[in-house]
Amino acid sequence: MVLFVTGLCHRTCWYCPLSGERKGKDLTYANERIIESPEQAIEVAHRMSALGTGVTGGEPLSRPERVITYCSRLKEEFGPEHQIHLYTGIAPDLEMLTRLSGIVDEIRLHPPVDIWDQILESDFVISALKAKDMGFNIGFEVPALPEVGVLNQALPALDFLNINELEWGGSNADGMRERNYTLEDGLHNAIEGSREWASVISKDDKVHFCSSSFKDSVQLRKRLIRVARNTARSFDHVTRDGTIIYGNLVPDEKDREWLRRLKAGTFDDQGDHVELSWRVLRANAETLSGESSIIERYPDRGIIVEVTPI
Ligand code: SF4
Repeated sequence: MVLFVTGLCHRTCWYCPLSGERKGKDLTYANERIIESPEQAIEVAHRMSALGTGVTGGEPLSRPERVITYCSRLKEEFGPEHQIHLYTGIAPDLEMLTRLSGIVDEIRLHPPVDIWDQILESDFVISALKAKDMGFNIGFEVPALPEVGVLNQALPALDFLNINELEWGGSNADGMRERNYTLEDGLHNAIEGSREWASVISKDDKVHFCSSSFKDSVQLRKRLIRVARNTARSFDHVTRDGTIIYGNLVPDEKDREWLRRLKAGTFDDQGDHVELSWRVLRANAETLSGESSIIERYPDRGIIVEVTPI
């Protein structure tokens, strides 16, 4: 599960990928759902049989009490084997590391790019060494910028260095244009050259490069499939991409008579419309007079990706 703690952040990285919808807003999300309590996060985690949680933002540690409350409750509910990793752009001091100990397993530090060339003198390396001593799995997670090669010098202090391919997004488009960066192809958001910048150090065993296409097509897909399998109704068709497909009927009185003859559990009456198997709806569409369509959407009432009228 992805636990987005808050959209607040003290930094102003030019490449920040955060959407305008979330940036600067003190809202908490579990996956795509706005939540207000740890219990709601636990419910979302159960619905997808989550094995672990990535705690992210904005800057999660701008709301430290929230991080601690949510992580403690997740560990209480799912046990110590529920792996929790925390992304942060702040180098946690000893006091904060002590508070995170036992409720966070791994910390992914994101030092600002303007200190990368002096990283060994920075709080980030000091924090990483302390965290390592305390038993955390500790590393850096940074975008593949042209300067990324200088982080080579920090590797002895880290358990890992994750490098994410630089991605074009709505909120960083101006920064990309100012630097004359362009897209690698017309299909993905990856920036041309980003993979090569990372290749300077990506041969070390501690370095993991995550391509933009892997993030989209593998990580997101896996998450959607887990949620879809746990939440699909008997008549929902779960696709290989983890979306669900069903038929949507806005019935008139005559259609309602037909619906009454269907077995209980084979449709879902939502009041103003009825959801049912898209195959059953399509097979009967000619005899029905209400508006019929086939809907594809993300699972668990997620966003609708396609509506096909029948
Ligand atoms: S630290 Fe992260 S959330 Fe904050 S501005 Fe930078 S990229 Fe955005």
